[in-house]
Amino acid sequence: SIEILGSINVDIVASVDMLPRGGETVLAHATQRLAGGKGANQAVAASRMGAPVRMIGAIGADEGGEFMAATLRDDAIDCSAVSVLDGVPTGAAYIAVDAEGENQIIVAPGANGAVTPQIIPAPQESSRILLSQLEIPLPALAAFFAPENAGDRLRILNAAPAIDAGADLFDNVDVLIVNQHELAQYCGGVLVERVEDTFIARELMKRPDQCVVVTLGAAGACAVWPDDHFYARAFKITPVDTIGAGDCFVGALAALLAQGCVLKEALPIANAAAAQATQKAGGVPAMPNRAAVEAALKE
Ligand code: ADP
Repeated sequence: SIEILGSINVDIVASVDMLPRGGETVLAHATQRLAGGKGANQAVAASRMGAPVRMIGAIGADEGGEFMAATLRDDAIDCSAVSVLDGVPTGAAYIAVDAEGENQIIVAPGANGAVTPQIIPAPQESSRILLSQLEIPLPALAAFFAPENAGDRLRILNAAPAIDAGADLFDNVDVLIVNQHELAQYCGGVLVERVEDTFIARELMKRPDQCVVVTLGAAGACAVWPDDHFYARAFKITPVDTIGAGDCFVGALAALLAQGCVLKEALPIANAAAAQATQKAGGVPAMPNRAAVEAALKE
């Protein structure tokens, strides 16, 4: 199974013709409340790919928290390690999307920002993978990935959003997953476009057994090892909404690794899953199930 420490957010999505500028007010022609947060998105993606998932994190004692817990449970995710905290609201993301699909996002971390090392339980005997992102305070992430906690489990960090201090965790991570922009930020601002550009990720490696997986949007993904690489082109598709594509890729990859795939087998399948996620709006609602991914791969 997989243990996912991560953010749990209610996404409030407002559709507007044009994004507001400073001091401006615009009217939304539709609003929606959707389940989101990188942690929750990745948990649902992994669960729908067929891996047992335990979610670790925090919500507030409010209606948004109840909505999120119910959403995760509906997807067969174990929420026994999700703390309900008094006095802080459930995390929320306020998202404005314009007619071209361009967006503006404000995240209010709420309970996610109150996750401490103390609320992280010891990993279950059955878990093979620990997965997290950078939407949880660093002390909690450091405790989660510490060798004393992790044992011989595979530790996967999706270093998103890019936070410079997040690099302090790389020592204690086995697989790092970043997109082009995040890789650029961690590697001094270089533009990462072609497959060969991803080799710069070797600068981030602290141990010879580490791997960095770089997602390249419509170009797919590349896994980089100290002396090797493996590129898997993207699944051909016309995207409708790319919110959640990266999270789907990460969750699906973790599920495939938990099921015993090696990275070279898992990468093309994770690309197919992420491509499916671009066919629907939102984070959680867009995550495909295993059958849909298998069907797409057979087409
Ligand atoms: P993020 O969503 O974090 O910005 P990417 O844009 O790199 O990350 O997308 C993550 C993954 O989603 C890619 O590796 C790819 O598998 C898939 N993906 C994203 N955009 C497309 C696209 N236009 N066509 C096919 N697959 C895509």
